[in-house]
Amino acid sequence: MSHSPNEPILLTSSLHVDDARQAIAGLVNDLIQESTALHDHDAIETVSLDQAIDRILAIDLLSPIDVPAADNSAMDGFAFDGKCLNTGSANITLRIVGSVFAGKPYEGSVAPGDCLKIMTGAVMPAGCDTVIPQEFTSAITENSIEFKSDQLKLGENRRLRGEDLQKGKPAIAAGRLLRPSDLGLAASLGIASLQVKRRLKVAILSSGDELRTLGQELDAGSIYDSNRYSLTGLLNRLNLDIIDCGIVRDDPTSLKKAFIEAAGKADVLISSGGVSVGEADFTKQIMQELGDVGFWKIAMRPGRPMAFGVLKPTPGNARKTLFFGLPGNPVAVMVTFYQFVRAALLQLNGANQTEPPLTQAIAEEPIRKKPGRTEFQRAILGRGTDGKPTVRLTGSQGAGILRSMSEANCFVILGHDQGNIAAGDWVDVALFDGLL
Ligand code: AMP
Ligand code: MG
Repeated sequence: MSHSPNEPILLTSSLHVDDARQAIAGLVNDLIQESTALHDHDAIETVSLDQAIDRILAIDLLSPIDVPAADNSAMDGFAFDGKCLNTGSANITLRIVGSVFAGKPYEGSVAPGDCLKIMTGAVMPAGCDTVIPQEFTSAITENSIEFKSDQLKLGENRRLRGEDLQKGKPAIAAGRLLRPSDLGLAASLGIASLQVKRRLKVAILSSGDELRTLGQELDAGSIYDSNRYSLTGLLNRLNLDIIDCGIVRDDPTSLKKAFIEAAGKADVLISSGGVSVGEADFTKQIMQELGDVGFWKIAMRPGRPMAFGVLKPTPGNARKTLFFGLPGNPVAVMVTFYQFVRAALLQLNGANQTEPPLTQAIAEEPIRKKPGRTEFQRAILGRGTDGKPTVRLTGSQGAGILRSMSEANCFVILGHDQGNIAAGDWVDVALFDGLL
């Protein structure tokens, strides 16, 4: 399902999570194609390696060198000409004619029947193509070793020049969300800075008359606004520019003003609250004036209501703004962010991999589940006594119970058509932390 940004997405019946994701990806793609829609969203910046974590590589990083730069030893042992392995003799004796260390190439050449003591990483000396690891040898004199010829083949324990990376070939492809290993890889090539996509500007706001900012008194019926803080945390994981637009009252004038202001500064606006039945009506009215926004009932739990679309350019703002109206419940905010917003932000910023990885684990206890909606239950991934991965839910799973998220380290994702889960069943799991 794909929607042009000019055509409102209007859905009344429950929408499958996969269809919602596809609709979002389609609209984001339309925005990317429409070059004037989001100004300079594909602009490129050069940043030093220490600033590049979680940014998106803008163009292929080509290796300026072969890695490794020369054939070298993969083991501590003895380097020799491997042809002697094919002569049929069961035992091989070699004369040690010297030593070679990493960083200090051997000047001379090694004749057949001779060997050099070699350290891991040392450049293979001329005349040598094979390394016998130290532990496979026995010394027969101070200056000679012996080993069984069936312990290795010609060429073994040698790393070949360019086997890791070849000069001129991509070392990291454009679109990579840069991880610590990528920074190390760039450094290993002598590259000190990378060309990355500019950071997206993402505005966040919370809507609700009951919300209070930290530091304010809590009067009867009011609650602290927690969503902006969980959203800030989620967005910081993506190394974005966050524009905090605070709390907005539940009245059309304040909301409209806040939306216009936020859209004027940001590529993407994420609001929370005010999209559920009963509240959505005046939000809908405003959205009809400001953009093409669909109000979705998604077949998921938590996170059923969600608004999504684009805010139109205005006289003061010459470009469109992607808009997510997330539900107000603190857990639903995080689930819908994880499920829909994260991938859209990555896609908009040119990432080639937008879906977080899934794994599977065994349910420790039965889980109640109704077919016809996707559920995101909060759980702890661990290990059973047999070493297999297991999950157990973190207590009460209400959409407002943030502790269920806080104590969890993963979602158990129960698919649309799935019914009750029995203890011992395998279930899909999405880990919260991508550590590498
Ligand atoms: P709503 O989607 O506006 O109907 O809100 C659903 C529930 O989430 C209500 O109980 C709200 O009080 C609560 N809620 C809405 N926004 C926030 C927020 N920013 N922080 C904490 N709770 C919120
Ligand atoms: Mg509300």
